[in-house]
Amino acid sequence: MARPVPDKDHVVGRRAVVIGGSMAGLLTARVLADHFDEVTLVERDSISAEPADRKGVPQGRHVHVLLARGLDVLGELFPGVIEELAAEGAERIDFGTDMRFQSFGTWKVCFPSGIRCSFQSRALLEAVVRRRALALEGVRLRSGLRATGLELDASGRQVTGVRVEGAVGDETIPADLVVDASGRGSRTPAWLEALGYEAPEESSVRVHVGYASRIYRRPDPMPSTWRALYMLGTETRHRAGVVSPIEGNRWMVTLIGVLKDYPPADEKGFLEFARNLSSDELYHAIRDAEPLGPIASHRFPSHVWRRYERLARLPEGIAVLGDALCSINPVYGQGMTTGALAAMTLDRCLREQRRARGPGDLCGLTRAFQARVAEVIEVPWRLATGEDLRFPEVEGERTRSQSMLNWYARHVHGLCGYDPEVTARFYRVQHMLSGPQALFHPRVALAVLRRQLGLDRHLALGA
Ligand SMILES: Cc1cc2nc3c(=O)[nH]c(=O)nc-3n(C[C@H](O)[C@H](O)[C@H](O)COP(=O)(O)OP(=O)(O)OC[C@H]3O[C@@H](n4cnc5c(N)ncnc54)[C@H](O)[C@@H]3O)c2cc1C
Repeated sequence: MARPVPDKDHVVGRRAVVIGGSMAGLLTARVLADHFDEVTLVERDSISAEPADRKGVPQGRHVHVLLARGLDVLGELFPGVIEELAAEGAERIDFGTDMRFQSFGTWKVCFPSGIRCSFQSRALLEAVVRRRALALEGVRLRSGLRATGLELDASGRQVTGVRVEGAVGDETIPADLVVDASGRGSRTPAWLEALGYEAPEESSVRVHVGYASRIYRRPDPMPSTWRALYMLGTETRHRAGVVSPIEGNRWMVTLIGVLKDYPPADEKGFLEFARNLSSDELYHAIRDAEPLGPIASHRFPSHVWRRYERLARLPEGIAVLGDALCSINPVYGQGMTTGALAAMTLDRCLREQRRARGPGDLCGLTRAFQARVAEVIEVPWRLATGEDLRFPEVEGERTRSQSMLNWYARHVHGLCGYDPEVTARFYRVQHMLSGPQALFHPRVALAVLRRQLGLDRHLALGA
């Protein structure tokens, strides 16, 4: 869908500041460039133009798949960016034909799904997006600056800027709108408390996920017909593994354990963990492959959603999005797409604001945005936490309907072993192109029922 042409004569405000120059921050800067004369990205890390891992994004050393919906948003915000990624070595992968995908012990049926993703390192993705964002009129990056607090006006109700500290000292950057995209470690709750507001309550589900990743040279010839491998656990064996093709003819190989079953970061332990996935396919692929660097580890203790939409009082002129708002178990690959959808939601709110109140009036934007973005987050949050609550050891409220959904989903996974139509619907939901209701279409519900009643001939064949 073509984006409405920005109308700079009717900007909503003069200056916006985005805290955090990572994926959510960059996409937000793109959106804000349509509504503000100046957009300043404040980033704690010093940033190089070339793709590089960096301290502020430690998760970048692990597999990062941008779901199909996220890729669509990226292409809408930056036309041609997908081709730019491909020119830098990113690979287009059809989930149905190029990827071998197993969940609950069932390999998904192979068929041309039309669900295509771009596979590359997280560092390359961010570098290409950053290049495009910084080429926009009015957008600039101030790296090596750490945001330390919010500035309020005399009434105490309006954010007027961000305090920052850097190598040359402290300063305040004035802004009509401040967007916090500083990631999971966001300080906005503490900053609000320091200013006499309440911190948002946090919804949280503890999962204790561990990642270990290593880059390998991609074997030539390839040891298999697949181009990417994605193995989720079974009901009893929760380990997962991914082989993701990335630029430079390399593989990013990631191993994942839940509930403190952390994959080891030493060579022997890494391979042993790979051998103990629900199939030894990944182990056989990497056993003789050439590693190109050390093994990186990362721990993700819990899903966290900061409920700004529930706060009775919030100052005007602030918005919180990306992982700063909601950080979901990365196994489901929804993080960057959810951040992209949040940026689009902010765009929509700003357009409505301008229509309703005219240029220069941001009154009510904060509440409207935090309420709308909460609706966007609800679906990925429910899908991911619902899947994790399947494990009896994961603490959290289990509703009867969630248990029913998990039972239903288990059958859908089974159907994906041989039914391309059901699998296509599953992929659309997984990639956030359709809502979960797509899996309750009569075509799917009937197939689930037939499985449950033992009437599906594939069951006799062991599916
Ligand atoms: C191991 C792992 C694997 C993942 N895999 C996937 C995947 O396959 N697909 C997917 O979509 N998502 C994945 N995710 C989630 C994804 O990484 C996040 O959802 C995404 O990076 C969030 O982007 P963000 O911009 O909100 O925050 P971040 O990427 O965390 O960036 C925050 C930025 O803010 C900066 N910053 C922080 N504090 C300050 C400050 N005070 N002042 C200035 N700057 C500051 C940081 O330096 C950083 O640049 C994964 C996450 C993990 C942990």
